[in-house]
Amino acid sequence: MTTHTDELLERYRAALVPVFGVPQTVLDHGDGCYVVDVDGKRYLDLLGGIAVNTLGHGHPAIVEAITKQVSQVMHISNFFASRPQVELAEALLRVCRAPEGSGVFFANSGAEAIEAALKLTRRTGRHRVIAMEHAFHGRTMGALSLTWKPAYREPFEPLVPGVSHVPYGDPDALRAAVAEAGDDLAAVLLEPIQGEAGVIVLDEDYLRLARELTRDAGALLVLDEIQCGMGRTGHWLAHHATDVVPDAVTLAKGLAGGVPVGALVTYGPHVTGLLQGGQHGSTFGGNPLACAAGLATIRTVESDGLLENAAAMGRALTEGVLALGHPRVAGVRGRGLLLAITLTEPVAASAMTVAREAGFLVNAVAPDALRLAPPLVLGPAEVESFLAALPGVLDAAVPPSSPAS
Ligand SMILES: *Cc1c(COP(=O)(O)O)cnc(C)c1O
Repeated sequence: MTTHTDELLERYRAALVPVFGVPQTVLDHGDGCYVVDVDGKRYLDLLGGIAVNTLGHGHPAIVEAITKQVSQVMHISNFFASRPQVELAEALLRVCRAPEGSGVFFANSGAEAIEAALKLTRRTGRHRVIAMEHAFHGRTMGALSLTWKPAYREPFEPLVPGVSHVPYGDPDALRAAVAEAGDDLAAVLLEPIQGEAGVIVLDEDYLRLARELTRDAGALLVLDEIQCGMGRTGHWLAHHATDVVPDAVTLAKGLAGGVPVGALVTYGPHVTGLLQGGQHGSTFGGNPLACAAGLATIRTVESDGLLENAAAMGRALTEGVLALGHPRVAGVRGRGLLLAITLTEPVAASAMTVAREAGFLVNAVAPDALRLAPPLVLGPAEVESFLAALPGVLDAAVPPSSPAS
């Protein structure tokens, strides 16, 4: 019997550019932390659209904000301003703890926020940017120049020149690269937690060192918080766990709870003044619809105590997974609700499939790691149901079949 899923995936194959491979299933609707596919199968969504659905699916605050804004005005161009745009910028500056004279540039995606950051670094009059090995910053040509993975980069070379990659978390390598770039160093750009690389948390001392070295070199420290920011770690921004103050931060993913948006936040008047009138822009960036969704997201995170919830549910998941004592669990890394369950064998891809069949959406972020980035509204009952299912999932997972010999 052909299911609706099979039928739609067949049509997907025939109609879409195959850059994502064949999707796992076809989702139809969602409610809270759950999504339902076109054949009516229900899943606990522990991936949250890859750290996007901050408030889960169909949250009344988002539905109401968007519905109201759509009927009021959806788009006006940047020749005009709107109240949601101004209010979201103000709210972002507040939650980012940005000092007086800071600013926000709105884009529509993470890669676009990174493009804005890259253009900002050029305005220092310098050309060299130090990024990190295993970094992910997006797929547009500028963002790709900062992204590390050779398989993503090499088909598209030559990329933007001047970028070098240093081992993530290695202080000596960073010192050497900063010294080598000399007075052409425009910026060090890094993720406080590398998401796509497998949820790798950067050492706090390294972040402080990056701050000191860039300050001394007269260069910018740009933090990519597109995945780890907006409350996910239990702090508004992941780097708020430290005393480091960056020069710029990029945001996207969870910022508007599922509506496409990106933002570059520039810290203080000097950095904010680097981009002058006419030097950057975006048709859709800062549109009232996305900004209304962003505002509703921030207000709900605050009113519903979701930073505290992210921290508490992250602890419950981490402790619960470790307490299983399952032989295939090596550990849990990450912060708050950005976690990776590390495995003793490369069975993550199979575990993801088995979990989905059992009604749980997780992501095999590496051959030996399962990423969880659920909505911040995740509750104890959802944590319990996942912990109850995980041993069976791990038991049933099999290593990838070896290539035919
Ligand atoms: C997802 C991601 C990006 C790119 O965002 P897009 O919206 O996919 O362009 C950039 N940086 C980090 C850290 C990300 O996780």
